[in-house]
Amino acid sequence: MILGWILLGLSFAGMAMAAIPASINDPVSLLRQADSIKLSDQGQFLEILDVLGNDSARLPPDQLDYLRYLQAWGAAYRGDYKLSDSLLKGLLNHSTDVTLHFRAGVLLVNTLAERSRYEEAFQRQSLLLAELPKITDPDARRQALVIAAYLYEEAGQYDLAFTYADQLFKETPEIGEYSCIASHAELAALYKSDRLEDIDRKFQKGIDICTKVGDLVYANGIRFYEASLALQRGQTDIALQILKSNYADVQHTKYQMLISQFDASLAEAYRKTNRLTLARQYALAVVDQSKINRFAESLSIAYQVLYLTEKQQGHMEAALAYHEQYMDANKGYLNAVNARALAYQTVQQQLLAKKLQVDTLSKQNQILQLQRNLDKKASETSRLYILLLLTVLAFIGFWTYRIKRSQLRFMRLARRDGLTDIFNRQHFVHAAEQQLQYCRKSGREACLVLIDLDHFKIVNDTHGHAVGDRVLKRAVAACQAHLRSTDIFGRLGGEEFGIVLPECTLEQVLGRTERIRLAIVAVARDDDAPDICVSASFGVASTTCSGYELRQLLIHADDALYQAKREGRNRVSVSDGRAKPHLSAVGAVTDGV
Ligand code: GH3
Ligand code: MG
Ligand code: MG
Repeated sequence: MILGWILLGLSFAGMAMAAIPASINDPVSLLRQADSIKLSDQGQFLEILDVLGNDSARLPPDQLDYLRYLQAWGAAYRGDYKLSDSLLKGLLNHSTDVTLHFRAGVLLVNTLAERSRYEEAFQRQSLLLAELPKITDPDARRQALVIAAYLYEEAGQYDLAFTYADQLFKETPEIGEYSCIASHAELAALYKSDRLEDIDRKFQKGIDICTKVGDLVYANGIRFYEASLALQRGQTDIALQILKSNYADVQHTKYQMLISQFDASLAEAYRKTNRLTLARQYALAVVDQSKINRFAESLSIAYQVLYLTEKQQGHMEAALAYHEQYMDANKGYLNAVNARALAYQTVQQQLLAKKLQVDTLSKQNQILQLQRNLDKKASETSRLYILLLLTVLAFIGFWTYRIKRSQLRFMRLARRDGLTDIFNRQHFVHAAEQQLQYCRKSGREACLVLIDLDHFKIVNDTHGHAVGDRVLKRAVAACQAHLRSTDIFGRLGGEEFGIVLPECTLEQVLGRTERIRLAIVAVARDDDAPDICVSASFGVASTTCSGYELRQLLIHADDALYQAKREGRNRVSVSDGRAKPHLSAVGAVTDGV
């Protein structure tokens, strides 16, 4: 019966509430009343449960859950653990009331420990402690701390037991029932871990608190540790004095575990002081009691006293018999202690394994996350590369376009005459030769017309070079108006121009040349120089008479042009295909051909 102190602690807590008489018409008060008397007046408690149970259909869900919790208490009290388990587990599964859920957990741990199902008790205990920070109800918190302190003490975890007892003490600001339990639990942990030094002060403080709240059980529980320590230190008289002076009070409590502890200690003290009859008497009282409730530690001490007493008196047979019983009891006691310690360690290992598993999983998750981040980064990087590549390509494309454009511009500039924007001499020669080649191959006729503006020097001299330039441009425009896209038109130098007209008979060319001549004459007068007279002379040579060689055509056309100048200018003259020696009016027309 290791859990005497726990159950006592919980019942004690229950007694803190005043028993208010309540009626069936007020189920909430009735439930509270039952809760408050559940261990102090078990008869009435069970009666109230019956009353409420018969009328449970009327209760709203939260009150029904409260009733189930109390019914679980009732079942545990009767030893019907199957029922209490199912009621408590039901509440743990579905109750949304945080406090009731927690209290159900506390009671389940209690009943599990009572049935020596330590492993499960420790498992649920660790769950409760994890829940504890969320619990605000002071009473529920204190109950959990009571359980924690005593359960860890039973598992030999005295530091933990002391910590929880101390927390219980701190969470009980006023001197009351819980501060008495906390003192008892603290002293038990200190005593069992051999850490009690300032005996008088600590014991007395605890005893004072418990006496003040009127609790003889806990007060004498502390006295029992005080006496045990005195016995350990060889202060048998002190131990006897404590045990004897409080023995009547202990008997009065009817708390069998405590009575057996006192009996066992008295037996030991009397044996040590050689009062063997008394020693045997108290030891036998423990043995008698063990037939009803087996308090393993006290029984082991009692059998040891009996064995030593018989041995001292020379009753070897009886001594041997008690020795065997002592060994059995001691073994049973040690087995129980070991079982609790083992259960605690097993649960700790399970929790550790679970934590490791969770840690491993979280590490794996971290690795996955990192992997994902890396993948993301890699795709971002490749996207960046693609963007960079596209930018470079766009840049190259842009520059290729610009270079090509300027190349084309340069090519055009290289082919064009700067003033009139028609073909310059070189390009005219090149294009004209190509065209003539094409006409020769295709057997088509072509003509070459040379044009030279008349007395242009006078225009320059009279009106200035700028006006001369404008006249040149207008004359060119006048010519262009009468040309086809296949005609090749170029400036051969100064005020001299050439036109190759493919696929034209001489008659057609003469007709067009005449229209050009008239167009030049009609060149609009310059506003700055209204008295300018512009005209041009034309020399025409055809492939029919001169052949397809440009050089030859130029000589013949120039010849005809000279003739037009000579005949009075502003006219068209046609070559008959025979060159006459003369001073060229258009200069060295064949230069560069
Ligand atoms: P003709 O009727 O015999 O051809 O007489 P002309 O004055 O036209 O012939 P000449 O060869 O004696 O003079 C040509 C003149 O053309 C000389 C020059 O002042 C002028 N000239 C040549 N190139 C340009 C030019 O680019 N701009 C201007 N304004 N005048 C030019
Ligand atoms: Mg001229
Ligand atoms: Mg000239």
